[in-house]
Parts: sequence; C-alpha cells; structure tokens
Amino acid sequence: MNITLIAPPAAGKGTQAKKISKKYRLEHISTGDLLRKVTDPKIKETIDKGQFVSDEVISNLLKQKLIEIGSKGYVLDGFPRNINQAKLYEEMLKELNLKLGIVIVLDIDKEIALKRITGRRICPKCGAVFNNLFEDTKTKIENVCDNCGHTLTTRDDDNEETFNKRYQIYMKQTAPLIDYFKDYIYHVDSSINTDYTFKQIEQIIGDVYDKY
Ligand code: AMP
Repeated sequence: MNITLIAPPAAGKGTQAKKISKKYRLEHISTGDLLRKVTDPKIKETIDKGQFVSDEVISNLLKQKLIEIGSKGYVLDGFPRNINQAKLYEEMLKELNLKLGIVIVLDIDKEIALKRITGRRICPKCGAVFNNLFEDTKTKIENVCDNCGHTLTTRDDDNEETFNKRYQIYMKQTAPLIDYFKDYIYHVDSSINTDYTFKQIEQIIGDVYDKY
C-alpha cells in the first residue's frame, strides 16, 4: 500500500502522514524533512524563501530513499509538487517496480491554513508537530514536546510572507496534479481538525484496501 498526499501549505500534510504511517505501519517519506537534513546552505535558503528546490535534486533524494526502504509500503508527503516531478516519479516507480497506490488531497481554505502556520511548533529532536492555536494539537506544557520533553521551535519558513508565496506556487504548480492523477484521487476536508481529517482518510483506506 502506497499513499501520496497532496495539500496546500499548512493543511496538515505532515501530521496526517505521521498518523497514517503509525496506524498502517508504512514508512513516512517527507521530502521537506529529507531536504532539511541536507546541510547545503543554498538548499536551506531556497526552503526559507518558500521556493522549490530543483526537480533533479529532490527526485534523486527520493529515489535513494525508495531504494533504501525496498518493498515496504510508504506514505509520501511533499512529492510530487509539479507535473514534471509527477512524470519523474512515474518513471522511478516503473524502474523500481513499485505502484503509485492512491493519492489523497487535503482540502482547506487559505485563511484557515494561514492561522495554522502562525501557531505551528515543531520538535527539533523527535520531529513531532504541534499547534498552540488549536485545542486538539496544542502541547500539555507550552513550548515543550509532549513526546520527548524537548523545547519546541518554529520552522524558519513559517511566516506570512513565505506562506503566501508557497500558497501561490501550490495553486499554480501543485494543484494541476489533481487532474493529472484523477484516476487515483480521493479528497478529504482538512479544515475542521486533525481527528476528523484522519477519520476520512481511514474511511478511504478501508474502502480501497478492504483488508484494513
Ligand atoms: P514541506 O515540509 O513539505 O512543507 O516542504 C518544505 C519545503 O521543502 C518546501 O517549501 C520546498 O522549499 C521544499 N520541498 C519539499 N518537497 C519538495 C519538492 N517535491 N520539490 C521542490 N521543493 C520541495
């Protein structure tokens, strides 16, 4: 079972990917996380400005990761983000003898997404994500990770200016993938809360892969 998530910035893509990965024992592949581990300052600058890194860099990183995890199912969070990447991905799948699986789109209004951005806090140690502006995702102790107790930080690209740029890029480059993958697409409403979003995802996975 392979699942690809498509979503505008701050729709909860990373949070849902983690929940899917845990429940269905799938490898979580976040291309944003793969890139944040690369120490090249040019890559960090690109991410902080809300721009895309080159299709070549990101698809090579992803390919290495897919080879590394072998035949284990995965949830793909952050790729493909444009039509060219979708084509590169299809070639990669063919070469590695893997299946696309299903593509889930998280739908959300721009205004709600922006509010999520300003409250997002991440744990630099274990990667957990929280939001202090929403009851269901805030931490028990302010600014302290519920999982490991480490002090939380914000992502350098979580500000209004970068959000607007990323949203614009999403609409122009990523949203056309919904039509490109139309035979594999499932929509969920991601504007209420994380549990409601996840319930809809469970429903889809249950319907498509009826053994779950
Ligand atoms: P994310 O964690 O998915 O929100 O990604 C954070 C940032 O990493 C994005 O704003 C891009 O700068 C970069 N990035 C992640 N995935 C890709 C991709 N598939 N193509 C290009 N840039 C990416």
